[in-house]
Amino acid sequence: MKHFRKELFFHTPTRRAFINITSQVNACLAESGVREGLILVNAMHITASVFINDDESGLHHDYEVWLEKLAPHEPVAQYRHNIGEDNADAHMKRQIMGREVVVAVTGGRLDLGTWEQIFYGEFDGRRRKRVLVKIIGE
Ligand code: ZN
Repeated sequence: MKHFRKELFFHTPTRRAFINITSQVNACLAESGVREGLILVNAMHITASVFINDDESGLHHDYEVWLEKLAPHEPVAQYRHNIGEDNADAHMKRQIMGREVVVAVTGGRLDLGTWEQIFYGEFDGRRRKRVLVKIIGE
C-alpha cells in the first residue's frame, strides 16, 4: 500500500474566506501515484474548515450571511471564549462547516460528484494556517 502526506499552507488577507483547493488536492494525488484508494483533507486549525460543495459565488455569499446569523462575530464580548481573543465565532463556524473531507480515488482521479469541489473555509485568517492531505491506496 502506498501512503502520502503533505501540508498545504494558507494565509488569507481577510478574517474569512472560501478557497477552492480542488486543483491543489489533485496535484497531491498526482504526486502520490495512488490510483485506487482514499484521500483525507483536513484543516489543522480549530477555526478553519475543509468542506465539499459548489463553486458558485452566490452560494458562498449565502454561507457568509448564514454563518453570521448563526454565530455573529460582533459583539465579541457576547462570547465567554473571547477573553484575550476574539475568535469564538470562528470556532463555531468551523464546527458547522466541518473539519475534513474524505474522497474516493478511482482510476487515479478524485471520484467527486459532478458539481463537487473541495474548499478551504477560513474563519479567523490573516495568519499562516495548514491543511493536511493524506492519501492511502495503491
Ligand atoms: Zn479561540
